[in-house]
Amino acid sequence: MPSAELIGLQAPKKAHRSLVFALAAACRQIESAGLIGAASRSSFGGASSGEPLSIFRHRRAHPPISKMQRLTLTSRRLLKSWQPRIVPPRLALVMKDWRKVRLETLAVHAGHEIDAATGAVAAPIHLSTTFERDVEGTYSRGFMYTRNDNPNRKALEEGVSALEDGAAAAAFGSGMAAAMGLLGALAPGDHVLAHVDAYYGTSRLLRDLFLRWKLEADFADMSDLPAVKKALRPNTKLVWMETPSNPLLKIVDLAAVAEITHEAGAVCVCDNTWAPIIQRPFEADADFILHSTTKYFGGHCDVLGGIVIAKRDDEFFHGVRSIQYSGGAVPSPFDCWLILRGMKTLPWRMRAHCENGAKVAEFLAQNRNVERVHYPGLKSHPGYEIAKRQMSMFGGMLSFETKGGREAAMAVAAKTKIFTRATSLGGVESLIEHRASIEGPGTTSPESLLRCSIGLEHPDDLIEDLDQALS
Ligand code: PLP
Repeated sequence: MPSAELIGLQAPKKAHRSLVFALAAACRQIESAGLIGAASRSSFGGASSGEPLSIFRHRRAHPPISKMQRLTLTSRRLLKSWQPRIVPPRLALVMKDWRKVRLETLAVHAGHEIDAATGAVAAPIHLSTTFERDVEGTYSRGFMYTRNDNPNRKALEEGVSALEDGAAAAAFGSGMAAAMGLLGALAPGDHVLAHVDAYYGTSRLLRDLFLRWKLEADFADMSDLPAVKKALRPNTKLVWMETPSNPLLKIVDLAAVAEITHEAGAVCVCDNTWAPIIQRPFEADADFILHSTTKYFGGHCDVLGGIVIAKRDDEFFHGVRSIQYSGGAVPSPFDCWLILRGMKTLPWRMRAHCENGAKVAEFLAQNRNVERVHYPGLKSHPGYEIAKRQMSMFGGMLSFETKGGREAAMAVAAKTKIFTRATSLGGVESLIEHRASIEGPGTTSPESLLRCSIGLEHPDDLIEDLDQALS
């Protein structure tokens, strides 16, 4: 390790005030750690013009990096040329050069920081709703009031955004609150085209709430590209994809729908709740990703949350952000902490969910009391080829139709011993539910359909449980 290092800090053009304050705080920290700083405080004004704020010559082997983790916009340009020689791997992580590490590593480290004050390895939970002002009236530490921002929420947003390779993210108190944030950023008279088999809560939100606020909405089967093209209108502003869909596990070709959407001058969102890690919507050119973090991110059926991740930190996303802090449907610091903790094991849990899901689906496909299995990893699934192209594994969700209609389906659910009869998904425990009765009038779920969230139990136990319930 060389005894001298150069670190460049740069704010982008039109940097937000909080970033400038954070940079100032980092500069102070670096200086007080005994570094020779070449910064002049008066140059902070340069932040808005994109000028480097400061260049330091570093004396120690390991720079004090804790504050710098907050600096989303640290000068990549300067660092790039130095990295191979002088930036230690940990610093590369902190500098958010996420492209250099794999998803498992990202999931553990993104949004995570050793606590500067105590050295705590697990992040502290910041319950304070309000934060101290500096004597000169500013908030150099970047936080003012928890509805606007909070260290745990910021960490969660940075972590999930890095994991999905986005530019920014806004966390909400539930998946539906995140959906409200996106839809609310549209204007009256805008048209939304949504997948016909999208989560029923999303269609209900559009129909029951947003139509009253003069959004226009249509639903199309997005596994049928000509149907998507036909349903677009001159005022279509947002196309809502969900794949695999809920509960029929239809597969939407993300890249194809994104292309059609962009040709029409609209933006598209992918509800990626069912396929975190294994499906990368930004690679298929989606503009936004939505997760109900209640599901796989939390992973233990004990926290509610939602998040919108933006590919570009643009005007549309600023609208979502303003709904987040003005509307106030924000997650609590503890919920943010739980979800970020869940993210650390997400890639490995997803792998096991997918392996178990595939085994259970194969078993069901052979069972004589099962009419049809909906699982994109089965070669018989109409979306198998597209799923193979855009997913690295096929997920832990499946549904199947029993022979004998609604009564037979209810009887199977009643007889399971390891599967719990409950709604929701993505937890370590396997769940089974009769979707039509949960969704109620207007459901498009077949009466004979049971939806399963395959958990992390041993797959043979799950198969034996379903086998006895079906016999
Ligand atoms: N999107 C999908 C695909 C879902 O399955 C759900 C809930 O089941 C949601 C969104 C809504 O999330 P939440 O229940 O956190 O509001």
